[in-house]
Amino acid sequence: MKALIRKSVLAVKPYIPGKPIEETKRQLGLKEVIKLASNENSWGPSPKAISAIKRSLSGVNRYPDAQGYYLKKRLAKFFGLSLENFVLGNGSDELIDVVIKTFMEADENIVTSQGTFLEYEIIAQVNDRKVKHAPLRYFKYDLGAMLKLVDKKTKLIFIANPNNPTGTYVTKDEVAQFINALPETVVVVFDEAYDAFIDVDDYPDSLSYLKKKKKIIILRTFSKAYGLAGLRLGYAIASAELVTYMERIRQPFNVNLLAQVAGLAALEDKDFLTKTRRLTLEGKDFIYQELSRMGVGYVLSVANFILVDVGRPGQEVFKSCLKFGVIVREMSQYGLANFIRVTIGTRKENQRFIRVLRKVLAVRT
Ligand SMILES: *Cc1c(COP(=O)(O)O)cnc(C)c1O
Repeated sequence: MKALIRKSVLAVKPYIPGKPIEETKRQLGLKEVIKLASNENSWGPSPKAISAIKRSLSGVNRYPDAQGYYLKKRLAKFFGLSLENFVLGNGSDELIDVVIKTFMEADENIVTSQGTFLEYEIIAQVNDRKVKHAPLRYFKYDLGAMLKLVDKKTKLIFIANPNNPTGTYVTKDEVAQFINALPETVVVVFDEAYDAFIDVDDYPDSLSYLKKKKKIIILRTFSKAYGLAGLRLGYAIASAELVTYMERIRQPFNVNLLAQVAGLAALEDKDFLTKTRRLTLEGKDFIYQELSRMGVGYVLSVANFILVDVGRPGQEVFKSCLKFGVIVREMSQYGLANFIRVTIGTRKENQRFIRVLRKVLAVRT
């Protein structure tokens, strides 16, 4: 059967998602399982989004609005841009695919970092496109090293900012330097899935580059701070011209009806976003403090997760935590074999994670 399959598909290492709660309960016979593995919002979707979904349920016999008019209009107002600057996606994952399909010829390449979001590589591979990775530097994107990888055939740069799974970010100055040094023939994609959690002053204002007519695309998602991971909704912001081409690639009904109304409502729910942000920052401080007390290393994060140096195979720590009903993420696929990544949860979830980690790490020392 293998002979039937495209070679590049055979070569793909499938994306391993965070383990679902239900599956874990079933497999391990556990009642109380918490998931801190996929950087979701632990406080639920916004109540306003839930109401909007309920109000729209009886309309799902109809196709969704293929233009996503109301959501785009709201986004345009939110950013002071126009409708023509937005492409909606079935999660920002879909938009990574749309971007690659829109811009890349067969012999062109992507430059990104090692130790970053795996979808760039997987989606590129499925599309038969080459990716070049610069090493991380102190768990951070090394834009200087990436610049050196750019050649005549480089079309796209992917920068996850903040980076997943390290939680680090590239600064305003670093980005300014990088963009100025790039040839005009390259499009920079800023994947800003965690922008809502940023609490530093030198985070780059990527929109300003759009306004300066630089060739950039910004990806945002409703899956993290906005709490709508299960509905699949993301968007790209770009110049109106680039948007028209990307619109040719996406499926006409890629964003479902419930996602559109929920996204619109979630954007209006500032209280929910503020609460999510505040509790995430509090929870992060708590986990930092407890890890330090345990003598466990970690990488400072500006996102809603922490990369933890467990000093032994993360795969084992992941499995041990699972037995106690705590799902975290092991990092071997990212080339970070001795690390786990934990999402900031509710206060109770964070306390439970720390309790379990203390037990798990003490067991073998
Ligand atoms: C979670 C995540 C996304 C994508 O999420 P969607 O659910 O597909 O919108 C994109 N990029 C990074 C870096 C992420 O961590």
